[in-house]
Amino acid sequence: MNSFSYTRATDVASAVHEIATDRAAVFIAGGTNLIDLMKENVARPDRLVDITRLPLNRIEELGDGGLRLGALVTNTDTAYNEHVERRYPLLSRAILAGASPQLRNMATDGGNLLQRTRCYYFYDTATPCNKREPGTGCSAIDGFNRMHAILGTSDQCIAVHPSDMCVALAALNAVVRVTGERGDRAIPFADFHRLPGETPSVDTNLGADEIITAIDLPAKGFADHYAYLKVRDRTSYAFALVSVAAALEMDGDTITEARLALGGVAHKPWRNTDAEAMLNGVNATKDHFEAVGEAIVRDAKGFGHNTFKIVLAKRAIVRALQYATRMEPKA
Ligand SMILES: Cc1cc2nc3c(=O)[nH]c(=O)nc-3n(C[C@H](O)[C@H](O)[C@H](O)COP(=O)(O)OP(=O)(O)OC[C@H]3O[C@@H](n4cnc5c(N)ncnc54)[C@H](O)[C@@H]3O)c2cc1C
Ligand code: SF4
Repeated sequence: MNSFSYTRATDVASAVHEIATDRAAVFIAGGTNLIDLMKENVARPDRLVDITRLPLNRIEELGDGGLRLGALVTNTDTAYNEHVERRYPLLSRAILAGASPQLRNMATDGGNLLQRTRCYYFYDTATPCNKREPGTGCSAIDGFNRMHAILGTSDQCIAVHPSDMCVALAALNAVVRVTGERGDRAIPFADFHRLPGETPSVDTNLGADEIITAIDLPAKGFADHYAYLKVRDRTSYAFALVSVAAALEMDGDTITEARLALGGVAHKPWRNTDAEAMLNGVNATKDHFEAVGEAIVRDAKGFGHNTFKIVLAKRAIVRALQYATRMEPKA
C-alpha cells in the first residue's frame, strides 16, 4: 500500500502553490480516473490536492457570444446545461456517449481533458510501457493493439486518447484556460494534447505548475448541422473504437464550413484541416464525403489487430457527415 497525504485547496492561487512547490503532489477532482490509477499502482502520488471546493463550477456566458465551462462543472451538468444543449448540442451528445450516468455525475470537465489512456499495458504494471515508465518499451506495438492508434503514432507509443468530450471540443475549436505560477494563459484545443513522439509519458502541454480553470467555447456552435458518431464494442459503457464529431454550416445543399474531429484513432483528438477544407463550397454528396474520409486516413498505419480501424474510420466519417447533413437520424 502506498501512503499519501491529502490537502483541500480553498482558492486557485493556493492550489497552484501546492503543486508548484511539491512535485509529488497532484490535483484530484472527481477522482474517476486518478483513483483507478492509484488502485492499479500506475499512479503513486505522495500528496493529493483536492480541488473540488474551488469556485470553478459555473457555466457562464462570454461577452463575445461564447460560453465558459468551469473546470469543475461535472460532465452531467455540462451535457444537460440549457445553453450547451441548445447552442452546442454536439458537445452534449459527445459527453452523453461516454462512461455511465454515475461516472458523469462525478467526472469534471477539467479531469476529462486529463484522463489517461486506456491502453491495457499502461494499466498492467507487469509489462513494459514507455508512457508509464519511460525507456522500458511499448508492449502494444507487437502486442494486442485492437484499440490502438492508426494516426500520429511513434515507435515509442501507439496509445489513443480515450475522451469523447474532447473530440467535440476539438471540432468546436475550444480554448483551455489555465493558471500557473506565472499567471494565466489560454491554450487552443488543438495545442493542448500532444502526439507521443519521443516523450509519450507527457500527454499534454499543461505546465507542471498549472491548473485548468475553464474551457471556453467560441460563439459558433454548429447547432443546425452536427453529429457525434461513436463506434464501439457495446452500445454503452465502452470507449470508442472510432468516433467522429462532424460540424457543418450549410447554405441549402452546399457546405460552407466543415469541421471533423476523430476520436479513438490517435494520441489526441485528430483534426485534418486540409481535408476539412475539401468540403468547403461543395454539395453534400456521398462522393465528396468519401473523398474526405480517404484523405484523412491516407497516412494511417495499422499494427495488426487494429488495422480494421482504417476502413472503419473512413466509413464513420461518411456516416457522420450524412447524419450532420440530413440531421436525421441523429447519431
Ligand atoms: C469505467 C469508466 C468508463 C469510462 N468511459 C468513458 C467514455 O466512454 N468516454 C469518456 O470520454 N470518458 C470515459 N471515462 C472517463 C471519465 O470521463 C474520466 O475519468 C473523467 O472525465 C475524469 O474526470 P475526473 O474529474 O474524475 O478526473 P480525476 O480522476 O479527478 O483527475 C484526472 C486527472 O486530471 C487532473 N486534474 C483534474 N482536474 C484538473 C484541473 N482542473 N486542472 C489540472 N489538473 C486536473 C488530475 O490531477 C488527474 O491527473 C470512463 C471512466 C471510467 C472509470
Ligand atoms: S501504446 Fe503507449 S501506453 Fe500502451 S504500452 Fe505502448 S507506450 Fe504504453
